[in-house]
Parts: sequence; C-alpha cells; structure tokens
Amino acid sequence: MNKKKIKHFIILAVFCSLFQVYGQETTKYSIIPLTEKLKPIEGEFIIDNQTVIFDNSKQNKADASLFIQSLNDIYQIKPVLINTKPKSNFLQIDYCKSMQIDAYKLEVNKNNIKIRGGKNGVFYAFQSLLQLVKKDDQGKISIPCVKIKDKPRFQWRGMHLDVSRHFFSKDVVKKYIGRMAFYKMNTFHWHLTDDQGWRIEIKKYPLLTQKGSWRKGTVVGHAGYSKTFDTIPYGGFYTQDDIREIVAYATERHINIVPEIEMPGHAVAALSAYPQFSCKGNVNGVEKNWGVFNDVFCSKEETFTFLQDILDEVITLFPSKVIHIGGDECPKEEWKKCSVCQANMKKMGLKDEMQLQSYFIQRIEKYLNSKGRTIIGWDEILEGGLAPNAMVMSWRGTEGGIEAAHLKHDVVMTPGKYCYFDHYQSDPEDEPLAIGGFTTVSKIHEYDPAPKTLPKNVRKYIKGVQGNVWTEYIPSDSHLEYMVFPRLLSMAEIQWTTVKRKSYPDFAKRLTAHYSLFNKLGINASMSFFDTYMKIEQNKDSNGIVVSLSNSIPDSKIKYTLLVSKDNIQQNAYSYPIYLTENCILKYNSIIDSYQGKSKTIKFNINKATGKPLIFIEKPSKYYGDGSGFCLVDGIVPLSQNDNKRWMTWSDNNAEIISDLKSTQTISSVSIATFTDTLRHILKPKTVKVFVSENGNEYNEVKNSLITFNGDLTNITFDKENNIRYVKIIAENAGKIKLPNSNKEEYSWIFIGEIIIE
Ligand SMILES: [Zn+2]
Repeated sequence: MNKKKIKHFIILAVFCSLFQVYGQETTKYSIIPLTEKLKPIEGEFIIDNQTVIFDNSKQNKADASLFIQSLNDIYQIKPVLINTKPKSNFLQIDYCKSMQIDAYKLEVNKNNIKIRGGKNGVFYAFQSLLQLVKKDDQGKISIPCVKIKDKPRFQWRGMHLDVSRHFFSKDVVKKYIGRMAFYKMNTFHWHLTDDQGWRIEIKKYPLLTQKGSWRKGTVVGHAGYSKTFDTIPYGGFYTQDDIREIVAYATERHINIVPEIEMPGHAVAALSAYPQFSCKGNVNGVEKNWGVFNDVFCSKEETFTFLQDILDEVITLFPSKVIHIGGDECPKEEWKKCSVCQANMKKMGLKDEMQLQSYFIQRIEKYLNSKGRTIIGWDEILEGGLAPNAMVMSWRGTEGGIEAAHLKHDVVMTPGKYCYFDHYQSDPEDEPLAIGGFTTVSKIHEYDPAPKTLPKNVRKYIKGVQGNVWTEYIPSDSHLEYMVFPRLLSMAEIQWTTVKRKSYPDFAKRLTAHYSLFNKLGINASMSFFDTYMKIEQNKDSNGIVVSLSNSIPDSKIKYTLLVSKDNIQQNAYSYPIYLTENCILKYNSIIDSYQGKSKTIKFNINKATGKPLIFIEKPSKYYGDGSGFCLVDGIVPLSQNDNKRWMTWSDNNAEIISDLKSTQTISSVSIATFTDTLRHILKPKTVKVFVSENGNEYNEVKNSLITFNGDLTNITFDKENNIRYVKIIAENAGKIKLPNSNKEEYSWIFIGEIIIE
C-alpha cells in the first residue's frame, strides 16, 4: 500500500467506525421528530409492575393517564399514578409555567425518569418516552438512559383529512388524531364539506345531511380518463355528538381541530339540499365525479344568513380560534349569468367576479371576527383582495403564502409538491391508483417551509406546515393508512425539527426503526419507502443502455440478478451501473434489516434503435412522456397503459419520428408499442409507414411491408434494407372519435411507448 492509499484507508476506517457508533445511537434513540438536544447516557431504566408515576400537579393528570394507557396497549404494562414521591423506580412529572408551552426536558436515569414541561410539553415528553421503550425477548421493558431538551420549530403542525370524497368513521378519525399526536402534531384540519358530500350535522338545516351527505354513485377509475360511474349510493356524516366526542379526544391529545366549511365553491352537496342558495335555483344532485364544478353559492342575502347559521353551530362545536372557510377553486360562470350577483357587483362597485369572491370571503370573515374567531382560507382568497385578518394556506405552490406573508398575514405552507399525501409515493406502475404527482418520504423531508432565502420579516409570518390528504382515490381505512404512513413521519420532522439539526440519512435510519412500531400499533404503512428506483441512460460509448439503481435509504443493499441466457446469469450486490447490450431480464430489490421494497423484474429488448437519438418531426404532447422521448428507446415495452411518463403522445396529428441508428445497418422490421382505449380517446394509428435513408436527406418507403399485431406491439416487416442509418416512422392519426353520450367528436390520440428496429 503506498502512502496516499494508506492515508485514504485510515480516513475511510475512521469514518466507518464513526458512522457505526452514530448508526447504533440513531437506532437506540430513534425519536421522530428529531429532538433539539439529545445526550445519550449509559444504562437503562427498567419499567416493571412496581414502577409508579408521581404527578403532584393540579393538572387533571390526563397526560400521565394517556401514557399509562399507551404503555398498556403497546407493551401490556401498567404503572400506577400516585401523589407521594417514592425513593426509586418512579417517573416524576412537573408542569412548568415558565417553560414554552410545547417545550420539555426529559431525563432518564437508572433509578428514575424526570419530565419537566410546558402545558403541552409534558405530553410531548411522554411521546418521546413511548418511542424509546424497548421490550426484549424475555419480556423485559426498558428505556435507554438519556437527557433530552426539546421544543418545536413551528406552532402549526398540521395534518388534513378530506372526509367528503370518501367518508371515514368516527373511530378512524380518532385513530388518525391519536397517531398525529404520537408524532407531536397539534392541528387537525378537518375538510368536512365538498361537492361530493356534506358530513357535519347542522340542526337548523337537516337536509344538509339527509340529502347532502349521500351521492347516487361514484366515478370508476381516474376521473381524468374515466367516463363511467357506479350506481352504489355512498354517504355518511358525523352527528354533533360524534363531533363533540372527537373534539374532546383531540383536546386530550393537545390537538386543535380546525373545521373547514367550503365556500363559495365546492358547494354542490350543500346546494343539492338547499338549491335556493345557488344562482340558478336548481342543482343536479350531489356530485358523483371528482373535479371543480360550476354550481357555487350565490351572493344573494339569504345565502349569507344560511352560511352564518351554519357557522353559528360550527363554532359552538369547535373551540378552535381559527375556522377554515375554503375559498379555493370557485368558478365564476354562474355569477356572470346571475342577475342578483351582477346587481350586487354594481351596487358595491365591484370591478369583476374576482372582487365578488373577495367580498364574499370578507363578509364571512367579518361575521366570524364578530364571534371572536378568525378565518383561514386556501391561497385563492388572495384573488380580488385579501380579507383583513385572514390566514392563508398556500397549496398551489409557495408563492401565495409568500405574498400573504409580505402583506403581514399569517401563513401555513402546504405546497402540493411536498405536502400532498394523495400523490404517488413510488413508481405509479406498482402503486394503487392515485391522483398523480410523486411525493416521497425523502422529498417531504427536504422541504423547508420557511427558507433563509426569505427575508426575516416575511419568514416570521410562516406559522407552520401541513400534510393534506385528499381522498378521491382513497376509498378505505387501510388505504388511508397506506397513503399516510410513513410519509406523516417525514412531515412531523419538518414541522418540529430545525433545518440545522435535520439530516436525511439519520432520519431514514430512525424511520426504518419505526416500522417495528407500525407493526405493534397495527398501522398498514406503505413499504414503498424501501423501493428501488431504476434510471436508464444512453450508452455513449457503444450500443445499448446503462442502468443505474438507487433507493432512498443510505447504507442499504440493492441485490440484482441479470439473466442474459441460461449460461449467463449474474447475481450481485449493486455497486456500479450495469451495461446492457443484448436482450435480458433484470430483477432487483432493496433489502434493509428485515424489510424489503418491491421486487422488480424488467424485460429489456435491446435492439438497433435502443439508446439511439430520435428526432420528432411532429411535436409530441408535453403532458406525457419523459420530455426527451428517450422512453421510446430505453429497451422497455411499457407494461402499463396508465404510466404516463412511458408514453409519448400526439393528438389531431400524425406521429412522425426519425430514429438515427448512428451507423449504417441492415434492417427488416420496425415495431412500435401502441394501443386503443376509446374511453381515453386513444386509438391505434390508422396506418404505419416506414421510410429509410442512408444520409438523412432522401428517404424511400420500404418494400413489401406487412403489418401484424402482437398485444400492444404493432410489427411492420419488410424486404431487407442495406446501408440504412435513418429510419422514419409515420403513424397516421385514426381521426375523430365520438364522445360517449353526446354528438360531439374529438380528435383521437396516438400513444407510442417503444420503438424496436431489427
Ligand atoms: Zn348569484
């Protein structure tokens, strides 16, 4: 070993040993969200049946009682709550008025545990303790000794749940709130009303739930493509007693519930029950489809009385200072046609319908302010002028939030890209149907809601961050858990932990450790966190492609098997990119501790076009594919017709593509992957013609071509062509397609998923 190598070796060895210690500590103290300060101490405190909890405060002992209950639920052990201080084997709690409300100090020694905290802080200390508990094979229950000082970064640490698109029972909502509390969240944003169902009992207007909580059916599949509906009645609602029970449950767990009553848009369910508050005076029933709809509340006087009456009952049920009034996605079509709305605009000197929306929100704000409450709304409430005391929830990005913060309004950040849990969390090909998007654990973790790049006087108005769970594509309780876990833990960490302390590799290790807790708590968490991602690139030096594999978990192993032929099977732990130059099957998976992600098997068809440049004479749609069109020469015939990024698409024109083989070759067939799906207006091309050229200037059509079909593959075989470098494929659009249930016609789409040239 030369000197330089030795030096490197020593550095590497030191680094590895440091990392090992660090790794062990991470697993031993795997608290999520990460604490502000944590000092490991040798030894452990053993909890047994003699352990007591000493709480001499005047508090109602609810925090300690809940802790005992959780210990019993998870570990079947039940310490007793007492009022006199024992000598050893006890847990002592002190509520401390001088401490920040959410802050706490926790000290675990061999003989005792001491907690000091603010009004909520003691509860948070208990959650940290619960996450530290270990039970060994002999049934010994222990907590590693430690000293913790902790407080949150943000005061609004929220999770949202849409119970309109799909309804979740009282018990499921309580469970959801309990788990939020376990990860130190404090705000439950309850989306109670929308076009597809009104879910809160209002005594003065019984039809809201009698009629408005039921729809006659639901769209089947993705609303973006599907035109079919089932006829199964769907509904449900919470009685006022249910709501009081849920509010009490949340309050015990230091969670404030912010109810959302949507207005002036997303009001179809309410208007189906009381159509007199729409502009037209009639509405077609509770919505069965997902989307944005034109029937909204009319600005007539009676509507305000109606909404104020509703809000009166809402504020008696919910102690929250802040009430969410929606304010998003309100089409102005009906207001434009309505004589009352137009007269109101004239009377009040409003320039356009945007200002009418602003008037609507401001009037509701004034009403709620008069009752001692404030409003929060989605960022559209900025349009036409922001209500004077309103908080803003920034969802269409961060711009709305930043604008509101500049205007000195409090803001909660929920940008879709990082905070929407209805998005895919792994490769859509292997996931249950979702609305779209791609929001992984690591992506959420990297988000900083109040970055240093913003001026300090803007940053201070950013009160927090929240995960939103829209449930169009989340029909069941177990599916809800699958979408929420483990992503909720990532959200909890960006809510609580400072950017300076936050480290993704460390988080990933703690998160892996939490999977055993998910098992104990019976949470149906997604295993997609352990999935492996494949990246395919052109092989610049030769034929074929280069495949790289990665996952989101540092220090994990990716195993792969490459089957080229019976005699050529390679099994390896992945360390370097894999070069593929002939047809093969690649299987891979990530293995971390006792967990693994999805096993993938990919069949590669490596041919003369694979990895070679493409020229698009007719521009494909920018809404599909991978941008460059490389997905057509990556060696993979798409398995799913729904995986949008694997298909390049053309509407109302032909697909005209040139493949540059980079050197002259002999060829005799071209195949393209394409399919028909009339529901999505996708038709196979009417004809496919192939032209060839040596120099790229003069093209000749191939001779004696014959088209055959094999599944999604359209194969064109022809007489052998020699000295060919350029291959032009023209797939002719099949023309217009008649829309179901109407006389309208629309151009069909061509979808192409792969080009194979042999
Ligand atoms: Zn109107």
